[in-house]
Amino acid sequence: MARILITSAIPYINGIKHLGNLVGSQLPADLYARYQRGRGSEVMFLCATDEHGTPAELAAAKAGKPVAEYCAEMHEVQADIARRFGLSFDHFGRSSSPQNHKLTQHFAGKLAENGLIREVSERQVYSNADGRFLPDRYIEGTCPNCGYDKARGDQCENCTKQLDPTDLIEPRSAISGSTDLEVRETKHLYLRQSALKDQLDAWIDSKTDWPVLTTSIAKKWLHDGDGLQDRGITRDLDWGIPVKKGDEDWPGMEGKVFYVWFDAPIEYIACAGEWAEANGKPDADWERWWRTDKGADDVRYVQFMGKDNVPFHTLSFPATLIGSGEPWKMVDHLKSFNYLNYDGGQFSTSQGRGVFMDQALDILPADYWRWWLLSHAPENSDSEFTWENFQASVNKDLADVLGNFVSRITKFCRSKFGEQVPAGGDYGPQEQALIAELTTRVRAYEAHMEAMEVRKSAQELRAIWAAGNEYLQSAAPWTLFKTDPVQAAAQVRLALNLVRLYAVLSAPFIPASSARMLEAMNTTDDSWPEDVPAALGVLKPDHAFTVPEVLFAKISDEDREGWQQKFAGVRN
Ligand SMILES: [Zn+2]
Repeated sequence: MARILITSAIPYINGIKHLGNLVGSQLPADLYARYQRGRGSEVMFLCATDEHGTPAELAAAKAGKPVAEYCAEMHEVQADIARRFGLSFDHFGRSSSPQNHKLTQHFAGKLAENGLIREVSERQVYSNADGRFLPDRYIEGTCPNCGYDKARGDQCENCTKQLDPTDLIEPRSAISGSTDLEVRETKHLYLRQSALKDQLDAWIDSKTDWPVLTTSIAKKWLHDGDGLQDRGITRDLDWGIPVKKGDEDWPGMEGKVFYVWFDAPIEYIACAGEWAEANGKPDADWERWWRTDKGADDVRYVQFMGKDNVPFHTLSFPATLIGSGEPWKMVDHLKSFNYLNYDGGQFSTSQGRGVFMDQALDILPADYWRWWLLSHAPENSDSEFTWENFQASVNKDLADVLGNFVSRITKFCRSKFGEQVPAGGDYGPQEQALIAELTTRVRAYEAHMEAMEVRKSAQELRAIWAAGNEYLQSAAPWTLFKTDPVQAAAQVRLALNLVRLYAVLSAPFIPASSARMLEAMNTTDDSWPEDVPAALGVLKPDHAFTVPEVLFAKISDEDREGWQQKFAGVRN
């Protein structure tokens, strides 16, 4: 049995994600996980919330809550929405977990042991009123270039000039507004990525099956300019994982935490430890996914992420793993996505522009969104969500093609043969031709799914649905019934078996609708159609079924216009 480890880029804790975030990692990862489970692979599908860093602290302050409490609440909110979207994580963890604390400190200790950490003294702005160092972007003041009075310490957004916090006129804390600031000396740890450059280069060269988009991004960071730079892995913050060398204190680093980019990818591993704990399993059960000396040698590890995350996953995280000198499982395939735009602009969390996951579910069931998003996944280029396109796709693909097929054949059978699979008759040339076409298409669908070609998979699935509709249209058992009811019975039997086949094939895309189709067909047999002709004979004559309620309601022009208006502005 194949063993597949799947991780989705972990969403940041400070709010509900929009549909562009969803289609850029979690949703295609879920598609792949569901498909692999359907094929009988052993799957470990992990995701988590990314909880550390200044934005979490500020969001908590804005909400008037302690940061730990804020993160715990937002984790529950995100977990609930993920469940309602049908995201089938084996575990949805938290980067603030004890497991991640321990593992992050462990990695830092190993890296230090191997001479891959150096200490650097820096001068940084300290706010006496806030009792903390301020990151550049949390210092505001007047731009020396254009006079804009809300310029940030890293850049003036009015004239776009790059700034240093010390350039600002009358600098103040963006947190409290206090002007009682001073420059203080502080010490930080840097990961010597430059020392690992050759090892990373060789590792990336060994990945001959990676898309050029992925390897070219990694190579650019490795070789452009001065090459791969060392990176600071600590911050002067309260909220985060305390800097330690394994179990031991790190002299001179008291009161500091690891930088969020260092601990976030380590959560991929820690999350498996959380899964083991939550399910009362021993450590060996998660280690067999992550340690090549403990059983992970035959695991295929696939990561899903947006293109902006590629450098972290091809360089920074591998640098941590390689630098540890320990036998950790490294990624085998990395699937990255371009951006989904919203109605002529960009989705934006900070500006509240677009449709957010909770809002989407308030309007329509998850499967409508899953189908549109996956069938329009931004794979080879950016793609765009428009309400017209969404309406057309739902009405045509889901309602007119799949929903109509299921409704038409189950209702016709009920009216002429009752609510059981009719007996009698044999498959003729028309039926054999359909079975042959479906066999070819199912194999093509499998090939696209294995290759994680999301759009091509959706196209093939749609073609499989359409083939059934076309067959029904041309066989027309409602006409044949009048002259040859026995042959019509054979056609209806085939079509009812197609409903079950469609449910199985469609489950990775539209799991809830697929479950309803199986329920209507009164079967729990969701085995994959390795043998298509055999799969089309699973429902035997006299097998009882029920006519399902409407699977997919059409989106009216009125609804579309209403939603267009409702989502034209920004979210409050
Ligand atoms: Zn300016």
